[in-house]
Amino acid sequence: MKYKKIDINEKLIGDGFFIYGWDETDNEIHISVKSVGKQIKCPCCNEPTSSLHSNYHRKIQSVPMKGKRTVLDVVANKYDCLNDNCSNKVIVEPLPFAAWKQRRTIELDCLILSISCFLSDEGTSTILKTIGINISNDSIRRLREKLEFVDDPDIEKVGIDDVAIRKGHTYATAIYDMEDHHLVALLDGRDKNTLKEWLQNHKKIKLVSRDRASSYATAIEEVLPNCIQVADRFHLLQNLLEYMKDIFKDALPSQIYIEDGVILEEEPEKVTVPVSVDDKILENLNYDGSDPLDENGNIIEFNKSSTDQNDPNYIKQAENRKKNRT
Ligand SMILES: [Zn+2]
Repeated sequence: MKYKKIDINEKLIGDGFFIYGWDETDNEIHISVKSVGKQIKCPCCNEPTSSLHSNYHRKIQSVPMKGKRTVLDVVANKYDCLNDNCSNKVIVEPLPFAAWKQRRTIELDCLILSISCFLSDEGTSTILKTIGINISNDSIRRLREKLEFVDDPDIEKVGIDDVAIRKGHTYATAIYDMEDHHLVALLDGRDKNTLKEWLQNHKKIKLVSRDRASSYATAIEEVLPNCIQVADRFHLLQNLLEYMKDIFKDALPSQIYIEDGVILEEEPEKVTVPVSVDDKILENLNYDGSDPLDENGNIIEFNKSSTDQNDPNYIKQAENRKKNRT
């Protein structure tokens, strides 16, 4: 089979940038990336320009390759704004893979944030280190604190749900836009008053899909009495299953005895089947019926209380087991 070499630059780095170098040590991979000259628009006056002013260097940590810390060594361009009336003289080319002044790629930040949803900052930092991402727990916390939610005071349809941040330790109230499901707000806690406060500034809401928490229901009722409240399918089903579990618990006994495919009304009596031992087998084993002896010649006492059903110990244990069941 013949393999065709393809240019992966565009797919790997993004439009307008190409890889021109690759350096690998035991612990690190450095990828040299350069911008291709292009026409960009001035963010101030919107005038297009391709007049190169200079270039600038940025080192950006990326998602690791081969378990090694991976750094993009980027040379990007600065352009002149050619509009005489514009106050902006130099335009710094934005990078498609990293936000302005960020030392990590957007992709890497997303990965860090996703893992930190399930672990403590310290745990996240330790796990990430094993796959070649160096970030302190303080930096993880700062990254999370910088998350911004774009709120819309004119929003009309929202979904409200309580979410556990850090596996059951801290709760928050998440509010989503029902149209595109983007997160509008993440409120501390899951009590009625926090939600009420938020709803006061979003009086255009006509429809809320919420979870089963009654505190949310009363908050909505009090602030937006005309708003339609709906429970989503997931929560309805969860409700139904919980009720059914209670019904089954009440209606069914804790133990069900089935004999020949028929459910018995009562616990059947225990049948003890005596086992007869074939003498021939014992003879073959050279068993003479004498007590076993330890290395000092003392008789090893055999405690048969667990197998002899007439032993007082066995009877007592059986009664205890029965008591614990009911
Ligand atoms: Zn301009």
